[in-house]
Amino acid sequence: MKKIFFIILMIISSLAYSQSYKYAYYCLDTLTSKTMSGRGYQYDGNLKAATFIKNELANDGLTLMGDNGFQQFPININNIKSMRLAIHNKDSIKIEGVDYLVFGSSASCYKKIENTKCLVFNDKEKFTKVDFKKLNNKVLIFNQNILSYHDIVLFIRKIKDNFCEPNLIIIQGYDKIQYPISTSVYRVPVLLLKGVQIPKNKIDYLELNIESEYVEGYKTQNVWAKIDGTRCKDSCFMIVSHYDHLGMCGKAMFPGAADNASGTCVNLDLAKYYAKHPSPYTMVFLFCSGEEIGLYGSKYAADNPLVDLSKVKFLLNLDMCGTGSQGVAVINGKNHSKQGEILKRINDENRAFLNINLAENSCNSDHCPFDKKGVPAFFLFTYGKEYNEYHTIYDDGKTLPFTKHLDFCNLLKEFISQMSK
Ligand SMILES: [Zn+2]
Repeated sequence: MKKIFFIILMIISSLAYSQSYKYAYYCLDTLTSKTMSGRGYQYDGNLKAATFIKNELANDGLTLMGDNGFQQFPININNIKSMRLAIHNKDSIKIEGVDYLVFGSSASCYKKIENTKCLVFNDKEKFTKVDFKKLNNKVLIFNQNILSYHDIVLFIRKIKDNFCEPNLIIIQGYDKIQYPISTSVYRVPVLLLKGVQIPKNKIDYLELNIESEYVEGYKTQNVWAKIDGTRCKDSCFMIVSHYDHLGMCGKAMFPGAADNASGTCVNLDLAKYYAKHPSPYTMVFLFCSGEEIGLYGSKYAADNPLVDLSKVKFLLNLDMCGTGSQGVAVINGKNHSKQGEILKRINDENRAFLNINLAENSCNSDHCPFDKKGVPAFFLFTYGKEYNEYHTIYDDGKTLPFTKHLDFCNLLKEFISQMSK
């Protein structure tokens, strides 16, 4: 009898296992597909993703909150509609998003540069000694294989703040180019190049044509849904994940599989579970937009919450959850050490992950605006070397393994269950 029971249990758990994985991959495929246009603010990509999420939640029987699931808010965004580049004698400059990109802040422009000497910055020291007036109308080149990207960006900001207008800024030496999305416009275009395409300080020939459009008050939306608690309707747990990504830059699409279709899929899978197995406390599922442009969606949600924030027992923010071979990072875990220890203890008993890493807080994802309002919150992500794409056109999910998807879902369910006692 015991043996039969065990076999039935094995069948049920393996069914749950395959269904959960199947659903996660279905969500991943949909959210990273071409029709979603990288879930940014061109071609309705962001709205299509929100609509998909809302429909999934409604089909699973959750109660949609706000305006039929949506909580709209306005953003300003500079969309790069097209970009064309030609560099003389450079056959390597071909593919948008791979060989070149521009900053999201770049204004529309047409540049033709011939036989021109450039100012090359290979040394951070030079930043402090520069006479900004002398940069006007010049072509500036930064080699990001020598300087740090962070230092270059800070210096470009300084150039802007000093009302200085170079003709063109080039950052070259990339291995993989990431797209810096922008909510503002800068008249000076910033061109990003894979490899060192301009080895000396002279450009023989370069032609760059950018068409961009600055949109003020573009309407985007968070998606909210809930399942009422069986014992306590007034208090809730919140599970949060951002579904937006970088969208398109010209023809280059950023699918954002790891960041953060993965967390969105985990969130949808958990919503599906709790719709069938309501918890003692109300479960609230929030899918934020505008994270990549500066946590706009979660800031709006925390300022205009659809639940009483003082009644949130705990908030779990899931951002980048497609791996896990090396463990789970729990940002803000040190500030809520009691709850952090619960996660560690659950993992010690199940031995699902190599590590549960309790870390300090960091205001780099959607838990932060809620944390600032006093909501107890963790930001969790899985980590491992099995997938390394981040903010590139290659983050398309084709090799995203969801290594520990079921273990990760079980860890969160068990945490909520123990916190509900
Ligand atoms: Zn993210």
